[in-house]
Amino acid sequence: MEIYAESLTEYKRLATLEVKVGDLLLGDFNPIRIQTMTTTDTMDTIATVEQSIKCIEAGSELIRITAPSKNEAENLLNIKTELRKRGYNIPIVADIHFTPNAAEIAARIVEKVRVNPGNYVDKKKFELLEYSDAEYMEEIERIRYRFTPLVKICKEYGTAMRIGTNHGSLSDRIMSRYGDTPIGMVESAMEFLRIAESENYYNIVLSMKSSNPQVMVQAYRLLIQNMHAELKHCYPLHLGVTEAGDGEDGRIKSAIGIGTLLEDGIGDTIRVSLTEDPELEIPVCRNIVKRYSQPPQTPPKEGLAKTQSRVNEFEDSLENKKANSATNERKFELAESSKSLSKGEGFRERQPYSPFEYKRRETFEVNNIGAKHVPVVIADLHKIDKIKPEDLEAIGYTYDIVTDKWNISDLAADYIFTADQLIDFDLPGTLKIICYYNLWLASADKEKYFPIFDEQQYLDDNISKSFVTNFVMLDCYSEGYPEIDLEKIILKLRQDKTSVICLSSTNKNSVQSIRRMFIDLSQQEVKNPIVIITDGTNESMDENLIHYAVEAGALLLDGFGDGICLGHRFAEKKVTTDYKLLNSIAFGILQASRTRISKTEYISCPSCGRTLFDLQETTSRIRAVTNHLKGVKIAIMGCIVNGPGEMADADFGYVGSGPGKITLYKGKEIVKRAVSEDVAVSELINLIKENEAWVEP
Ligand code: SF4
Repeated sequence: MEIYAESLTEYKRLATLEVKVGDLLLGDFNPIRIQTMTTTDTMDTIATVEQSIKCIEAGSELIRITAPSKNEAENLLNIKTELRKRGYNIPIVADIHFTPNAAEIAARIVEKVRVNPGNYVDKKKFELLEYSDAEYMEEIERIRYRFTPLVKICKEYGTAMRIGTNHGSLSDRIMSRYGDTPIGMVESAMEFLRIAESENYYNIVLSMKSSNPQVMVQAYRLLIQNMHAELKHCYPLHLGVTEAGDGEDGRIKSAIGIGTLLEDGIGDTIRVSLTEDPELEIPVCRNIVKRYSQPPQTPPKEGLAKTQSRVNEFEDSLENKKANSATNERKFELAESSKSLSKGEGFRERQPYSPFEYKRRETFEVNNIGAKHVPVVIADLHKIDKIKPEDLEAIGYTYDIVTDKWNISDLAADYIFTADQLIDFDLPGTLKIICYYNLWLASADKEKYFPIFDEQQYLDDNISKSFVTNFVMLDCYSEGYPEIDLEKIILKLRQDKTSVICLSSTNKNSVQSIRRMFIDLSQQEVKNPIVIITDGTNESMDENLIHYAVEAGALLLDGFGDGICLGHRFAEKKVTTDYKLLNSIAFGILQASRTRISKTEYISCPSCGRTLFDLQETTSRIRAVTNHLKGVKIAIMGCIVNGPGEMADADFGYVGSGPGKITLYKGKEIVKRAVSEDVAVSELINLIKENEAWVEP
């Protein structure tokens, strides 16, 4: 195993234990399960049942319902009974924060409980306290005391459990020792996992969610590495990006985070959290999971027998350990293991990049590509018969006849690919053209037009090259394609400071193929900038959006890529390309991977039974007045119980704190309490202005 995945250069699913949630099996090469969460009041049995049915009929295989207190936990029985009466036997998951009592009731009723280790026992105070080793162990013992009863109930009733860590709600204890980091998230889950295993309870799923896909991906990878190192087995993983927001941005963010891990073969169930009706999350999940429905390599399925034998092996080793060690020694072991969590050290010796921390691949600069430049966006316009000034509106440039000037938006593409077409009007100064060699030869302006070569043309010394910028297309190990002479190309690229490499692959799982080329080029010290070319071949743009986000996003999160170009190659001529949408998706991918910030970032919760206002309507009102604030992160959260913790790295927060009341935050600090909902959006704007983050639209 490559430290956290079966392989980094071909698609292979990670082996995990198998978990039983009611009649549904999770992990151990079972299909990747799809799930969502209701947004109704849990005390409203019929509304919750009806919303659950909508989700089930859309394809959800598990339904999560919030249980903030004992009353809601008890009402899960009515919901379950009504669902079963109506013929729906889907497993129900109770979502628990802060209330062990509610968890212990729910665990006797539903098929699975989700606990958040950051707040199951601890109250989040945002205090950075210093803990001595003895104090730290005292806290762990306190958790053991409060958490063990739930484990015992789950064991007795055959209830599954998710230990669901969130980046934004780590306990003060974890924060004091590990900070707000992926490794802190891992340890937060490991503390609970060790307690569960000490009770011989293994029906567990884990998650490591964050609203930042970079943090989320790193945390899952570290968790797997640590489970393998410490436990010698791996639990099934529930994947999700929290507070992803809504619309296109929410879908892109989710697809990048979830898809990057699924490409690694990681993930056994997924939830896409959108600030929309929960049934709308399901088609997005399906489009993501579809990509892995027939994995090329599926190890032989041994099912429960395998899980049981792994667990038996583990229990034997645990029994031996117990027999040989006094309680104090065990405490010492736990303390030591919590200190020595692996942070992925050693990986770099074998690979030229780290999957556990973001570091952009080192390159030199060619024109405005590579080195310190943000990744560029190349718009592929070659299918437009004759490109006119108005065609550039879709890619961020609007020509104003009165002033005879181009207005350039924050989402303006940097290059256009025209293939064989010369442009017969004056282009905006910042926009450059990539075209085929013969056209480049014929073009008068060699500062504006740059040639793109295939591998043969690039190696042919009789073909002249630009002194400024060249683009070289390289296929990455596509099946059925003739092999390229990589050795010769590498030798030439190493001497060539004018060429940008464009990588693509037609393989089903092209992320692995392109990653393999990145690794091969990096190991050979090739430092030319690289553009990732991703073509969508689906008729539906919803599916293409997921495809682009996963294929380009997964590479960008690992620090690969100095630009992206999204193409649409649908065979049917009648399908026209929506260039505006493609351009917007390209910038959305760069924003979600945090490699180029060009718009406002919204961190909005999906809402649930705790929500205190209409989240969808409020999010769109806030978006309408703030969407010109490039780079500002605004959180819109439904409740004060979880909202402040979950909004992690937002600059400003709008959080429901009571019926009709909003609390406003600057970072994690409360600035205005109990603001009436009627004026809360204008008060938010005032707050942004007071902090000099406002610009006029
Ligand atoms: S932050 Fe939103 S989704 Fe999370 S518990 Fe509160 S209302 Fe529910």
